[in-house]
Amino acid sequence: MFNRTPKCSECGIEIKGDDVVFLKMRYPKRKGMVEIKAYLNNEGTFLCENCFQYPSK
Ligand SMILES: [Zn+2]
Repeated sequence: MFNRTPKCSECGIEIKGDDVVFLKMRYPKRKGMVEIKAYLNNEGTFLCENCFQYPSK
């Protein structure tokens, strides 16, 4: 499917399946998000739960 491992943009930890993540993204203009994972990887910025709740900076 997609080979780039999503990572937290703050601490760089790998996002694993079932992890709670927070995502900052631009809402797509097109309807029908067929390739949602690819879209998220291109446009999204992930934050792990830890960095979201306790920003280090
Ligand atoms: Zn993090």
